[in-house]
Amino acid sequence: MNQFLLGTILAILISVTAWRLRLLSRSGMIAAGIMGILVFGLGGLPWACLLVGFFISSSLLSRFARKRKSQLDDKFSKGSQRDAWQVIANGGVATLLLTVSWIQHDLIGCSEACFSANGWAFLTFAGSLAAANADTWATELGVLSKSKPRLITTGRQVPAGTSGGVSPAGMLAATAGAVLIALLTALPWADIPHPLDPLPVIILVTVAGLVGSLLDSLLGATVQAIFFCPTCQQETEQSPLHSCGTETFKRRGLEGMDNDMVNLCCTLGGALLVWLVFMIQYR
Ligand SMILES: [Zn+2]
Repeated sequence: MNQFLLGTILAILISVTAWRLRLLSRSGMIAAGIMGILVFGLGGLPWACLLVGFFISSSLLSRFARKRKSQLDDKFSKGSQRDAWQVIANGGVATLLLTVSWIQHDLIGCSEACFSANGWAFLTFAGSLAAANADTWATELGVLSKSKPRLITTGRQVPAGTSGGVSPAGMLAATAGAVLIALLTALPWADIPHPLDPLPVIILVTVAGLVGSLLDSLLGATVQAIFFCPTCQQETEQSPLHSCGTETFKRRGLEGMDNDMVNLCCTLGGALLVWLVFMIQYR
């Protein structure tokens, strides 16, 4: 219970600070606070360390890249303050995984070979956050690349910031973002029974992050809803109104498949890859 109390205090402290620094909107602060309480309180230090690693590194990158990126901001649907949907899209899958594994292991109790007891839930959690981190790093740093990105599906050159565009700089940033989470995962945590040696853990979590971020680009290039502003004559993720005030109309993609939904799929992809490896191991 002490861990839960301490976790709650830390989670509230971090999310309120992030809100005061304008990294989170008010709704984003509430969502991040609840997420933090669950991760700190139920998981403890190892799980919280991964979440904080993601949160701090991606927030710092947004800050660092903001000046050079400001002319691109109206292309993205939201500014740099993250709202509740963005917070859930990035950390929701990981938090849900931890909560389910806590219920299975600590509340109900499960055998030695179960997903939650032997460290695999922790690796799946890490895979999901590695995907979120890889994608955020690629988005924040990729747009600063001098060379124009190419669409992941057709290879056509597209303007910087286009959904589904990939570039060598973006891929490098995605790898670095995934490696950071992978290194934090492989630390010798006392209360996590690691099923694998450190090197396989680093490789698995990094690959999960990259697969998630590639899935993000693939969905961004195919099914993500892209809108068009007739006044500015440019594509945008903003709907129903563009930043200029004009009503935008859908050009392609699926209804409701916005950037947050694509991000959610990205984090789900990272988790699924680790879960598949677990299934193969214990088949
Ligand atoms: Zn416009």
